[in-house]
Amino acid sequence: MKIRIAFALSLAIVFAGSAFAQPEEKFDFYTRGTYRENVPRPQSILRFDVGDFHTTYAQMEKVIESIAAASPDRVKMYDIGQTHEHRMQHIVAISAPENIARIDEIRTAVARLTDPRRASASDADGIARNTPAIAWMAYTIHGNESASFEAMMQVVYQLAASNEPATLDILKNTVVLIVTGENPDGHERFATWYNSVATGNADRNAIEHREPWSIYGRLNHYRFDLNRDALAITQKETQNMHKAFMEWNPQVAVDHHGQPSQYFFPPAALPINPNFPQPVTNKWLEIYGRANARAFDSNRWDYYVRDVFDLFYPGYWDTFPTLNGAIGMTYETDGGGFKGLRWTREDGSIVTLRSAIAKHFVASMTTLEQTAKNKTERLKDFYEFRAQSMRDHAGARIKRIVINPAADRVKTAELIETLRRSKIEIKVAGSPFTSSTAHGYMEKNAPAATRTFPAGSYVIDLNQPQRLLIKSILEQDTAQDKAFVEDNMRRFNRNQMRGKGQSKEDYGFYDITAWSLPLAFGIEAFWTEDTGNFTGTDVTDEYLANAKRGSVNGRAQIAYVIPYETDAAAAMAVRLAQQGVRVAVATRPLNAAGRNWVPGTFVIRVTRNNETVHDAVAKLATEMGVDVYAANTSFAEEGDTGIGGTAVVSLRAAKVAMVGDEAVDQSSYGSIWFMLDKYGVTFTPMTINSIRSGGLEQYNVLIIPDGAAGRYFSAFGSSGISTLKEWVSRGGTLITARGGSVFAALKDVALTSSKLVGSEDDEEKAKTAETPEPDKRKEAEAAPSPTPKPTPRRNAEAEPSPTPEPRSDKGEPAPGLPPIASPSANANKVPEALPGSIMRARVDRTTPLTYGLSQDEVPVLLASGYFFRYSKEGSNALIFDAESRKPLTISGFVWEGNTEKLLRGTAYILDESSGSGHVVLFAEEPFFRGIFRSTARPFFNAIAFNGIL
Ligand SMILES: [Zn+2]
Repeated sequence: MKIRIAFALSLAIVFAGSAFAQPEEKFDFYTRGTYRENVPRPQSILRFDVGDFHTTYAQMEKVIESIAAASPDRVKMYDIGQTHEHRMQHIVAISAPENIARIDEIRTAVARLTDPRRASASDADGIARNTPAIAWMAYTIHGNESASFEAMMQVVYQLAASNEPATLDILKNTVVLIVTGENPDGHERFATWYNSVATGNADRNAIEHREPWSIYGRLNHYRFDLNRDALAITQKETQNMHKAFMEWNPQVAVDHHGQPSQYFFPPAALPINPNFPQPVTNKWLEIYGRANARAFDSNRWDYYVRDVFDLFYPGYWDTFPTLNGAIGMTYETDGGGFKGLRWTREDGSIVTLRSAIAKHFVASMTTLEQTAKNKTERLKDFYEFRAQSMRDHAGARIKRIVINPAADRVKTAELIETLRRSKIEIKVAGSPFTSSTAHGYMEKNAPAATRTFPAGSYVIDLNQPQRLLIKSILEQDTAQDKAFVEDNMRRFNRNQMRGKGQSKEDYGFYDITAWSLPLAFGIEAFWTEDTGNFTGTDVTDEYLANAKRGSVNGRAQIAYVIPYETDAAAAMAVRLAQQGVRVAVATRPLNAAGRNWVPGTFVIRVTRNNETVHDAVAKLATEMGVDVYAANTSFAEEGDTGIGGTAVVSLRAAKVAMVGDEAVDQSSYGSIWFMLDKYGVTFTPMTINSIRSGGLEQYNVLIIPDGAAGRYFSAFGSSGISTLKEWVSRGGTLITARGGSVFAALKDVALTSSKLVGSEDDEEKAKTAETPEPDKRKEAEAAPSPTPKPTPRRNAEAEPSPTPEPRSDKGEPAPGLPPIASPSANANKVPEALPGSIMRARVDRTTPLTYGLSQDEVPVLLASGYFFRYSKEGSNALIFDAESRKPLTISGFVWEGNTEKLLRGTAYILDESSGSGHVVLFAEEPFFRGIFRSTARPFFNAIAFNGIL
């Protein structure tokens, strides 16, 4: 009986819930006319109403092209380049007919505002008065944030077709640039999949709210987050958009997203990048924010400001535009994407795709109205952004940045190319020069010293228009807002006091706190407080092409010698071996071709190969920029190792597989995929099920990228783990990264003897632990855990995405994987996860994993709390020196009293043998976002030297 009553009651509640849940009013997109009758509405081409279905890329192109064709006096389309999957990206310029008629002239006039050396303040005034402002309106950088994609078409139609006075005012005073799809490949994966499974079901458990691993449309083809890529510009989509951005020089830039539970627009959250000019940036964020607020209030829509979405990391598409003088803003709508057509909020109300589209439409139009209204002041401030920054240069400490290409001339040239894309002016030293105020990048707050730089060094003087951008992406460390740091330290201290069962407070970090590109690339750099004593020439495309060129200095009679001077050298050895060429490596100092070479030099003996070897070597040397030397005798002039020496060991051709499956972090997988492709190393992506059922038979290298250790554990299962172990012991090389390495170190997996600092089986911790107080003893004996990597706040929304979220560890804890919270008795015994900081790691010379690393210390990224104890059974290629007195932190945020103390005495890369195979652990990702490349050589070494490590 009771049961029945309860049942009836719950039914009533459900009913009441839906009866009271107000269906959101159906927004009318066509109240802002009159409209030109010949311009087709998107729905007339799509054959469905706004928000009833998802538009595919080709359908969208048809809509845009039809509108453009019907309004040629207002609309001009530009193709800006292809995606990795050969979709064309477009920019649609929309403005008043008199502006479209002189569009190139406008572009040239606005470009003049970017160089105060060539345009005086009065020139700038004239341009500001007589020229429309340029507004960059970009949509769907995260391909599955679908409301943005649909809203874009409504904005295009409104601007192309409406004769409403406010719209005509926008057209008169602005050139609107619509980026119709920032991430076409990701959006297409999402839209096609969603349309094929959706029933418009608001139940959060419906299949349509759970994108499969191979779909996950947020990311692009290589599973890069394009809204992190404006820093290093590695992906085609970023390159296309960035090129257009630098050609148009917009004054306002809006990136339209759609993930959180409420609409967000600026003012942004802390921290704000300290390189922004203030108070002017905040002034504009207020102008736009308050205008949006008025528009949303009058529609009775709720929203939030100054929370979650910060403006710190320079690789976002709001920060990056702001560092180029625009006002860059992120707008986040609340529906669509993983929420599909309909989604039940926490409180039972329903958010629809259509309502989310409406909010973006209103915010876009409001932003354009404000830009039109304030266009002269905005253009003047745009000019002042660079003018003021050049005036500030005189009093600034960082006057010049010097980059020495010696560590890798090709990788350095790639960095210089990236900088030149952003109109950064760079010179190359014609002769050695000296600075008495040089600061090295490998030490935080390094004191000034006298230093002589070699000819060929790249020199970037900050006395140039792009000074603030240069500073932001190249400075050794970017300071965070003091209040922000203190607030997070307080949260940390409170968390340290919390008991094991208590949940912890979140931190305010939205993204990594260190990214300085010379450090990320692993290239030697300095900054100086002076600019004297230097002669050089401008770096040109031709100079860089030459710097990247490889060569072979003759047809070898005996062997080719490939010195390990660039990252590409090992990749070239791997590629040649994959092609069937017999390649060897000198494991002792080698004398050949009239020179001495260090261990790690590759040798290709002509006699061991067929005639095609000459062409194969020449082709790859040219393509990959590797210098190769011909040796015509085996006789060593000195030492015991020549071409024929016993210490010249044959490589085994690498047959590489990589796990691609639900447990795997997509960005980690994608960055490894991208780098393997970049260097032409072939691999096979494989599911865990295939591996369990014998798929590795033909392979000798397996890569397990970052991922959730617990999910790896349950997906492999005990039989899969046995299969892995047997495969390793028969000679396989297993390479793991971050979460993959945590999986390998789990007690019940034991693919390595290394222990995670702070884990239950961490004996070192037990040894150093203070005797707990009697009443705390029980707690202290309970298993503390390795702190997981932090979940980026963009994913930490109020209504968490049900999409399998590869960056979070929220999966079911596996047996052997300890719980997350740590008891207070263990305060500062367990590493707190780092938001992403750069530390110095020392190079160990006893293992082939460090072949090619000429420096003694390497800058590495730490973005987790996974610290691995030294291996006592194997080798430790990169370590955080327990003996060193120097601080380990080079750049970014660390937890005082926790990070440095617990990091000392741990290894960043370690290797252990098992039977005739090896397990190579990377504590972090080898190619984070394609930006961090300082451990490229150990990674390629792990592949190249499989079987002979
Ligand atoms: Zn987004």
